[in-house]
Amino acid sequence: MDDIIIVGGGIGGLTLALALHDARIPCRVFESAPEIKAVGVGINLLPHATKELAALGLEPALARVAVETTDATFFNRFGQLIYQEPLGRAAGYDQPQFSIHRGYLQMVLLDAFRARAGYERIITHHHCLGVEQDDSGVGVTFSDGPGGSARATVRGRVAIACDGINSVIRKQFYPDEGEPRYSGVNMWRGVTRWKPMLSGASMVRAGWLSHGKMVIYPIRAAGSDGLQLINWVAEIETPHYRKRDWNREGSLVDFVGPFADWHFDWLDIPAFIRAADGVLEFPMVDQDPLPRWSFGRITLLGDAAHPMVPRGSNGAGQAILDARALTTALLQNADPVAALAAYERQRLPATTRIVLANRSNPPDAILREVFERTHDRPFNSIDEIISRDELVALSESYKQIAGYSKDALRG
Ligand SMILES: Cc1cc2nc3c(=O)[nH]c(=O)nc-3n(C[C@H](O)[C@H](O)[C@H](O)COP(=O)(O)OP(=O)(O)OC[C@H]3O[C@@H](n4cnc5c(N)ncnc54)[C@H](O)[C@@H]3O)c2cc1C
Repeated sequence: MDDIIIVGGGIGGLTLALALHDARIPCRVFESAPEIKAVGVGINLLPHATKELAALGLEPALARVAVETTDATFFNRFGQLIYQEPLGRAAGYDQPQFSIHRGYLQMVLLDAFRARAGYERIITHHHCLGVEQDDSGVGVTFSDGPGGSARATVRGRVAIACDGINSVIRKQFYPDEGEPRYSGVNMWRGVTRWKPMLSGASMVRAGWLSHGKMVIYPIRAAGSDGLQLINWVAEIETPHYRKRDWNREGSLVDFVGPFADWHFDWLDIPAFIRAADGVLEFPMVDQDPLPRWSFGRITLLGDAAHPMVPRGSNGAGQAILDARALTTALLQNADPVAALAAYERQRLPATTRIVLANRSNPPDAILREVFERTHDRPFNSIDEIISRDELVALSESYKQIAGYSKDALRG
């Protein structure tokens, strides 16, 4: 009855559970899936997020299953180098940047919470249908799965919606919110076992959306066969897309065309894509920032609160930052309603800025700038197109907005 009820055992929900447990605030996690499995493909954890995970004692476990990313490297679609900068510890941060399989990240969080708080505190096969509240607490109603009828109502002190981009609880408070906003860009994603490219820990962005852009980074160290697990995303502007579903299979023929002549000395992209384990298709969508997340004893966290287009490596990180802020607010305010309001005051404006920056000026704005200035042609020297200072300024301004400039993290 005194537990905090966390709805959704994804990245945000499990991080929140660990942070609350660490703060000795009892909680339980209710997850829709019958079993939490390692699903998804690659994800990035920027230094502001790894700082929070390290505070929860998770850095060694993450380092075992992730790649510590050392540099961001940008190319045009002719394979010409535009810009390179160090990342994470290589850039002088006290924290690493990790590139990691989303499923491994989820398993690190899950294993830690089960070991610390007990197996019984994660309850799977519980799909939230809705939540009610009164002066003394909340009642969260669950079915066996999507489409099922109500089978149990669980009482708690507070309910936190960590139920992701299709959040049922967000829908309860915003029933008339329209469909997700399609950015005009569709994405195909996959992982390929391949020999290390460039530094072996590079995050590569190449090309531009109108013709075809690729994001490529390794997420698992090379095994005995010398091959890394390398994550890639192909992004193409098109009016055609299908409803968002993390597990939707995609088809090579739908996107491989624009990359057919991308044979670079650092990677043969068509061969690399064709060697993938499988292809997932997902539209690049977000939703307009909300005016309010907290309603008495109920609030939203992570993608349920602020779905953003994945152009700044920030989706998982911002859910992790939410978890820290909410835990601190609950520690500082005996009244849960005041705590949820304080959490919203801190995190809603911060994430709103990122949602909007991801639409207009995320890190890949560097590629757009060069694409426009060169009219999509090869250049003789990048210095004739754009100065190093301009490139650095584009990159640094996003770090400021997203909250991971070195000064912000040391402050
Ligand atoms: C299957 C899956 C695959 C993904 N793959 C990628 C990827 O490859 N790359 C990437 O960048 N991001 C991926 N994401 C999204 C990424 O995890 C989030 O953008 C980010 O980490 C924010 O985390 P979150 O906790 O808000 O949401 P999520 O990590 O999406 O977690 C939401 C959780 O809530 C559960 N849930 C949903 N509805 C209900 C309900 N009604 N009742 C109870 N539980 C519910 C879901 O099963 C899920 O476990 C994926 C998400 C999912 C669910």
